[in-house]
Amino acid sequence: MLAWQVTSPGPMASGPLRAVELPVPEPGPGQVRLKVAACGVCRTDLHLAEGDLTPRHPRTVPGHEVVGYVDALGPGIEPIGAPETLADRPVSAASPAPATAATPAISAAIQLGDRLGIAWLGGTDQTCAYCRRGAENLCPASIYTGWDVDGGYAQYAVVNAAYAYHLPAGYSDGELAPLLCAGIVGYRALSRAELPPDGRLGIYGFGASAHLAAQVAIAQGARVHVMTRSERARQLALDLGAASATGAYDAPPEPLDAAVLFAPVGDLVPVALEALDRGGTLSVAGIHLTDIPRLNYQRHLFQERSVRSTTANTRADGHEFLAVASRHHLEVTVTPYPLTSADRALTDLAGDRVDGAAVLFPDTM
Ligand SMILES: [Zn+2]
Ligand SMILES: [Zn+2]
Repeated sequence: MLAWQVTSPGPMASGPLRAVELPVPEPGPGQVRLKVAACGVCRTDLHLAEGDLTPRHPRTVPGHEVVGYVDALGPGIEPIGAPETLADRPVSAASPAPATAATPAISAAIQLGDRLGIAWLGGTDQTCAYCRRGAENLCPASIYTGWDVDGGYAQYAVVNAAYAYHLPAGYSDGELAPLLCAGIVGYRALSRAELPPDGRLGIYGFGASAHLAAQVAIAQGARVHVMTRSERARQLALDLGAASATGAYDAPPEPLDAAVLFAPVGDLVPVALEALDRGGTLSVAGIHLTDIPRLNYQRHLFQERSVRSTTANTRADGHEFLAVASRHHLEVTVTPYPLTSADRALTDLAGDRVDGAAVLFPDTM
């Protein structure tokens, strides 16, 4: 199969990715193989290619927004679920295992031909203190798709079945791909902002993740104010139902109950904190943030304003977000590229030349 590997991390102009011919991977125990239909291009892939994110392995295949169709099941794949959960469940021939497992983190049973998604979180130990308290996003033994294990810049990919997602109907393969990282992580960042019902939400930065989170918030009754430097992004925000859209450092037209910072710009932290009403929360969505300038307690934090980070996501976040996306159709802007042009897609992303989300399509080569 065709796949892309990060062979020598460095600036995109230096050609850090190489297109190679690899054997089609075989699914191991508890895994399924997907024939990839679409794979989103995330900024994290760019960090990996350019060496900002240290590779965990040489020659990693990037890509963690993978949509595909199950074409092979690994050994022991039936039934899908956490072994301990299934062992505890009384089983009889008259009552087959329910399609939905006991915890929201476990995918329903998987069959050949199913359309599934593979996301960033590819595995956890389920035994550490964080996993046991429902914070598997913090698991120190996490396995990440397209970093620890090969991802979706390829014609086929394998995934631990318990970490794959069934995907909502009503979306094309390409529209679903960005939901799997930009969508889920943005949703967690939004959740961590603890926006009260019908509250006033500020969104700083308006890229792939923000434009999905904004639609979720609007669908849930929030009044959304978008602060971003790009005129095109401001227009998109208004088209999607934002109440206002202004420059990145502008004050919103009313105090905010909550805010999410999507731009990786630490200078915006005090700006956003100052825009919060009493008791408001600023949630920082990114994996990277430039340095935060000195804060002033009275101006930025007193009156119980708070700032918090977001780290990856749990499977429960993923299932919740995909359920929301199933109830409220989200507008997803996709810029398509053939899989053979993955390097061009990343170069365009580095140069801010991608509208919405870049998505690779293996079948349009
Ligand atoms: Zn990502
Ligand atoms: Zn753990």
